[in-house]
Amino acid sequence: MRGLMQQLGLEEHPRVVDAGRVEPGPGVVLSMNPAAGEPIAGVKLDDAKGLQRALAGAAEAFDQWRRVPAPVRGQLVREVGDELRKFKEPLGELIALEVGKIRSEGLGEVQETIDIADFAVGLSRQLHGITMPSERPGHAMREQWLPLGPVGVITAFNFPHAVWGWNAMLAVVCGDSILWKPSLMAPLTAIATTEIARRVCERNNAPDIFGLVIGTDDVVGEPMVKDKRLPLISATGSCRMGRRVASIVGERLGRSLLELGGNNAMIVDADADMELALRAVLFGAVGTAGQRCTTTRRLIVHESIADEFLARLAKAYAKVKIGDPLADGVLMGPLIHEDALTAFEKAVKTATEQGGEVICGGERASVAGLNGCFVKPTIVRAPKNNELPISREETFAPILYAFTFKDLDEAIALNNSANEGLSSAICTGSVRAAERFLSPDGTGSDCGLAYVNTSTSGAEIGGAFGGEKDTGGGRESGSDAWKAYMRRQTCTVNFSGAFELAQGIRFE
Ligand code: NAD
Repeated sequence: MRGLMQQLGLEEHPRVVDAGRVEPGPGVVLSMNPAAGEPIAGVKLDDAKGLQRALAGAAEAFDQWRRVPAPVRGQLVREVGDELRKFKEPLGELIALEVGKIRSEGLGEVQETIDIADFAVGLSRQLHGITMPSERPGHAMREQWLPLGPVGVITAFNFPHAVWGWNAMLAVVCGDSILWKPSLMAPLTAIATTEIARRVCERNNAPDIFGLVIGTDDVVGEPMVKDKRLPLISATGSCRMGRRVASIVGERLGRSLLELGGNNAMIVDADADMELALRAVLFGAVGTAGQRCTTTRRLIVHESIADEFLARLAKAYAKVKIGDPLADGVLMGPLIHEDALTAFEKAVKTATEQGGEVICGGERASVAGLNGCFVKPTIVRAPKNNELPISREETFAPILYAFTFKDLDEAIALNNSANEGLSSAICTGSVRAAERFLSPDGTGSDCGLAYVNTSTSGAEIGGAFGGEKDTGGGRESGSDAWKAYMRRQTCTVNFSGAFELAQGIRFE
């Protein structure tokens, strides 16, 4: 662990305090290793003054950065991507250590930022607007996209690095600075990430566009969300947080980009490739110990194959190696903290009270030498009438609720019955069923992400990521998600020498 801290420059960082020397108090948070249940280090928190300094810094950096041509901004992002390539291993391991995801998923997060950096470099030469014909002679009309301002970025514990990457890489090529408020459960990842990006800025004499504030929601989070200097707040986290943030930003007529909870389903049709479906469900439901926004939480399986499918899935669940996320062969690490464990146990109990049958798991797992909150991956089969109210809640743990269906419309209705609308998938051998699920009239899946023959989790950066309904409606990452980080201007130029109004209006 010391080597890791040294490689990432955390040992000497002014914000970081040796875990053994931390004085408990309001100004410090402990970064915990959730697998061991032990502190990694203490991190000094920002107070109200620190936030004001950071906000002023982000505004000043924006004013300089927006004047830099977009392709030149892209070159800086290219260097950030290259620097992350160099630090992929230690940073990926730090992520695994701090939030308990397995090593390859930690490395995957850094890879995601490298990928979005590459995407953003290309984008820096493609931030185009369009031209449109004017109805008036001698007039030209065009649309252009301009830098928006400093962007407030709030991130959840479970993607402590990649969500920064999605936001920061795009915002920065768009000419914005960012001010990042990470989760207090992953402050070290945030410091290490920001230092890597800041070094690139220093080397290039660029302004300090990668701002960071670490603090509690009342002292730093909410005051930041209220601040008009941040025209956009991009917030990732629970629906509860999103409702609060949206109302504060709405009150000041700012913009918010919300990436909130999910209650994602996988439909397995009678003619599905069973091997493939099993692997897709296993990764979707058990990966990251069920702590992904896109985790498969509901399985909707055709009644003709349900018994066999669930029996084989339970067998696969029993083989999942639970343990130290950094150890070879481990597929599932711990839950993030005691509260998550309590929520897991409560959900399992409620599910059984509501008539669900625990097919496997449903209890704590013990791992020799580690005090973290480990649980067994769990499948709960819903009663025959598919009534299981607890399945409407997003419990951030590896619990999969299994339902059955007779015809596809019924399965799609069940898929769409969640309050959230993030991710969804169908495994099927039939083009008809796949296309029905994706139907262009909007009567198929109502989610922002809809997959065929693959998992609900594991999005690529090239597509826009996000979801509908209680998931908040935001889109980040690929496609045209960059537009959220810019302001649109419609420009009309009269080169005719005569004054003429639109719609034939005369004003003489
Ligand atoms: P959380 O809502 O507890 O916290 C998320 C972030 O919001 C943290 O940084 C927190 O400090 C901040 N926050 C909370 N209240 C705030 C307030 N009033 N003002 C300002 N900031 C505030 O979520 P979590 O437990 O860290 O993460 C798990 C949740 O995040 C799950 O619901 C998951 O589905 C969701 N999530 C969604 C996506 C997505 O892209 N849709 C991605 C990852 C996680």
